Amino acid sequence: MPPAPSFPPPPSLSSNYSGLPDRLADIGSESKNRLLSRRTLPESAPRQHDVPRLPPDISRAEFNQAIGEVKEILGSENVAINDRPLVDGWYIEHPNTHDAYHVALQEDLVSSAVVYPGNVEEVQSIVRWANKHLIPIYPISMGRNIGYGGTAPRVPGSVVIDLGKRMNRILNIDAENASCLLEPGVSYFALYEEIQRRQLPLWIDTPDVGGGSVLGNAIDRGVGYTPYGDHFANHCGLEIVLPSGELLRTGMGALPGKEGDDNPTWQSFQPAYGPYSDGIFSQSNYGIVVRMGMWLMPETSHQSYLITFPRDEDFPDIVEVIRPLAQQRVLGNIPQLRHVIQELATTARPKSDFYAGKDPVPRSVIHEHAATLPVGDVSWVFYGTQYGDPAGITAQLEIIRTAFSKIAGAKMLLPDDLPPEHYLHSRVSVCSGVPILRELDWLNWVPNAAHLFFSPIVPTRGRDARIVHEIVVRLHAKYGFDLLPTLCVAGREMHYIVNIVYDRASVDEKRRAAALMREMIAETAAEGYGEYRTHILFADMVASTYSWGSNALMRFNETIKDALDPNGILAPGRNGIWPRRFRGKGWEILGTEVEDALDGKGIGPKSVQ
Ligand code: ADP
Repeated sequence: MPPAPSFPPPPSLSSNYSGLPDRLADIGSESKNRLLSRRTLPESAPRQHDVPRLPPDISRAEFNQAIGEVKEILGSENVAINDRPLVDGWYIEHPNTHDAYHVALQEDLVSSAVVYPGNVEEVQSIVRWANKHLIPIYPISMGRNIGYGGTAPRVPGSVVIDLGKRMNRILNIDAENASCLLEPGVSYFALYEEIQRRQLPLWIDTPDVGGGSVLGNAIDRGVGYTPYGDHFANHCGLEIVLPSGELLRTGMGALPGKEGDDNPTWQSFQPAYGPYSDGIFSQSNYGIVVRMGMWLMPETSHQSYLITFPRDEDFPDIVEVIRPLAQQRVLGNIPQLRHVIQELATTARPKSDFYAGKDPVPRSVIHEHAATLPVGDVSWVFYGTQYGDPAGITAQLEIIRTAFSKIAGAKMLLPDDLPPEHYLHSRVSVCSGVPILRELDWLNWVPNAAHLFFSPIVPTRGRDARIVHEIVVRLHAKYGFDLLPTLCVAGREMHYIVNIVYDRASVDEKRRAAALMREMIAETAAEGYGEYRTHILFADMVASTYSWGSNALMRFNETIKDALDPNGILAPGRNGIWPRRFRGKGWEILGTEVEDALDGKGIGPKSVQ
């Protein structure tokens, strides 16, 4: 085990909006100590380039002038120039200066400055300021979008708008309507603790780790694991600062309430009247969301379980069994199917405990170690949860058990069958809306671990599952990474999520991780499968695979972008959408640019003939 704890405890939620609830203080300290004591990189390294990194096409004098003006608007204490050494920190104490989980060089995706608005009017003023100076701005809520770019802007030198620090109020919790209205800086931890404090019989839905922004995650179309796990589908009403600085309310919020109040149905009915515009503000760069309504789930009884399967090759058959169970809504949530190597990784022990080589852990070694773990020498593990009254749950478990008995050797286990430290117990929390930290444990797999998600959407069908799985297995072997797959399986599609865990200290590992991403995106697209979300550096590549009708969708997205943001100031390049000012000027990353950046070329426009 790593050395005894020596790092200061992480901040608590009572002192810091992005801190940890007291109930997780010990776990947070352990997690921090474990992760940081395996770090071999220095806490920070001297920066190689001039600081701050300037926005594109802005001289130092223009930048200084513009910064002076934004200090007038916000107060100088709410403007920070990004000119200090970059510190990656860890999940809870994360930087807002760069991508802490860098796949390019640490200094490649940096902002020039960070600004902290305190209210909606200040956000509007910042947007007008950006238009005046043609400075790209990049909004973040909590900045814990790890594996997707974190707090980093796609265009280096952009000014990051850190909304969460001063805009973190829970504006309303409506217990009768089972909904809430939130600002960007409300984390899952904060919302959960407030609901407990008020003793309301309501659940939130949380992703695997609870430090992210409820608002930020929903507009990036993140997912959780209760029946309310599709976060964007359970939001209700947005308030948005447009790139012009104008303020917009969507849904019923567009209809003014009596005497200046919010409309009483703003959090009750999503589409309201006319085109349903909310969708274009998710995974886009069309506006800054400053308020969002979210539905909460009435609390209920629940029972988590796992089912193990002994043989690797039964994977497509397992998917075939899941499909009807999910379509008939027998399954209570979006269950996960994981490979047994995850049982090793979720022990929080490093890979080197199991295998001395640098290459992927051989299957025989996984067998050998899995045999010593609570679930035994199996191949696939299915994690599910059922909800409702206890009699209903018992009946559902019987249907599920019978359905999976078609797979030879399938075995169902309940939490009581497993020791308290087993991962199933943390699923019990997450699947009943209790935000935790446990999922960080696999970051101990390699020293200085960072990760990238590769997440194609695959039909819930054995033959499709096999095609994608074979591509992913082959390319992981080619680039020398352990394959750590988690499949979130619904009735018609599954998110086949692969977590590429690499050592930030190794340029070679980063280069291989980037090449693996590039090839997986291309090879799965050639078979007709596309990703639902990706890291900002792979956004162009993923967007370019959605090319039906001579790129009709991207031309449509660009038309909206140019109409709403003619100066191209808001998050240029996010989700592959470039405003006219940047388009075709060499910013798009469609080839080996990320790998090349590791030679010191940096992320920036290539010269275009
Ligand atoms: P998290 O919710 O995990 O803490 P972030 O705050 O980093 O994540 O948000 C995820 C991404 O969504 C950001 O990188 C940013 O591009 C976008 N985003 C976050 N908050 C907003 C917002 N309020 N308005 C517009 N885009 C946002």
